[in-house]
Amino acid sequence: MALVLQAKDTLEWAYRGEGFVNLVLAYCGKSPDFVGKVLRMRKVPKYGSEYENGHSALTMHECLLWGELEGLVSAPTGEIAEQLYLQQVMCPLLGSKHVDAGIRVLVTREFLEAVENKVILLLLIMANAARVNPLRDSVLLVANHSIFPHGIKPKCGFLPISKFIAPENVVKRSITRFKMHQSLKLNQGKISQISKYDPLDVFSGSKDRVQNAMKSLFLTPQNNFQVFLNGSLIFGGLGGGADTTCMVDQEFDYSLKHVIRAEDGMRTKYFLELVTESVFKSGLLSLLLEVQKLDIFDIEGAIHSYYDIVSQPCMICRQKGVKERYASLHSIPRDQSLKLVRVYLISATAKDLSMMISFKSRENGDLESSCSTVYLESTDQIFYYKASFIDMDMKPLKKMERHYKLDQQIVSCYVQMKRAAKEVEDRESIKETPQIN
Ligand SMILES: [Zn+2]
Repeated sequence: MALVLQAKDTLEWAYRGEGFVNLVLAYCGKSPDFVGKVLRMRKVPKYGSEYENGHSALTMHECLLWGELEGLVSAPTGEIAEQLYLQQVMCPLLGSKHVDAGIRVLVTREFLEAVENKVILLLLIMANAARVNPLRDSVLLVANHSIFPHGIKPKCGFLPISKFIAPENVVKRSITRFKMHQSLKLNQGKISQISKYDPLDVFSGSKDRVQNAMKSLFLTPQNNFQVFLNGSLIFGGLGGGADTTCMVDQEFDYSLKHVIRAEDGMRTKYFLELVTESVFKSGLLSLLLEVQKLDIFDIEGAIHSYYDIVSQPCMICRQKGVKERYASLHSIPRDQSLKLVRVYLISATAKDLSMMISFKSRENGDLESSCSTVYLESTDQIFYYKASFIDMDMKPLKKMERHYKLDQQIVSCYVQMKRAAKEVEDRESIKETPQIN
């Protein structure tokens, strides 16, 4: 697209929301190049990053890791590297028709500054208005899934079985990471209640369990479940925060009145049926699970190869005094270490992405061949739906140490909380036992 967005063009772009890294603007003008699209643009990183100057997207060790991918090492900016990563790694794994890799559109600095001013004005009431990174020269144009989209962040859908999991962390084999992380978040005051959602349900391949997952997500959405109607968020949270204020049930039910043909009080139930049906029919989650499962070593294995790649003494073996247990990992050839870590990072992307499903009710005679259809039996309606993956960020190599620490923190917090709960339980049962004099 031989086009550069100028300051005057900001009038045609409306603030749609933001994530941790990106700000999203939706197109509201008439140009056929942009109708139905959104712009994703980088915010100024809060804690600084090597991307800041826009010169080098990858670190030296990341170049070793991703060197085989065409153009990735020479990518001048983080966005370009991300786009190449999507095209060359995630698209082949998840299917390019399920991944929207987007188009890079050139922008002037004035455009970025105008966007920032607009966003600051809009968000004056909010505490921390997003800052657009003015040093960029391009932004990413992707399809706007806002006809009636619905976002699910499914998280990791399997229990790790790696033999490198330390004996004290054996609980990882039976309790999901999601559930344990909820305990930690509750303990830290980041959430006010534990989510009822169980990722194993949504990946189970059983329709009843998928339906159960959808009900749980609706009851405790946190940042795992969002619903948009005509481009506006009507359920779930937009930002990075885990706790969200939800529309009350009645209000949500009412807002669906032009979508689900049913009496008051029944639409939410049928809507969740529609989502279940589409998740199930799309088959996307079984595809995703395969990619997640590429990580067979778990972070407790991959971290050792990480230290080999960055040519540093292994902190885990040193601190824990477990050199022998991991000697086999440390003696594999370098290309194997690189592969192991690469696969770990790809799987980490797959465990953290979101799935977007857009719906549009099929009116008589209205045919859209690019979309699949789903039948909602309860209301006798046919919907077009399009399911795809979004938010597939490339995970920085240097974050692996942080992944390891968080993993250990999650497990130890869970184990401690369980132990404390058990002690209380034991004390109660002693009290209840009748005393014989
Ligand atoms: Zn080690």
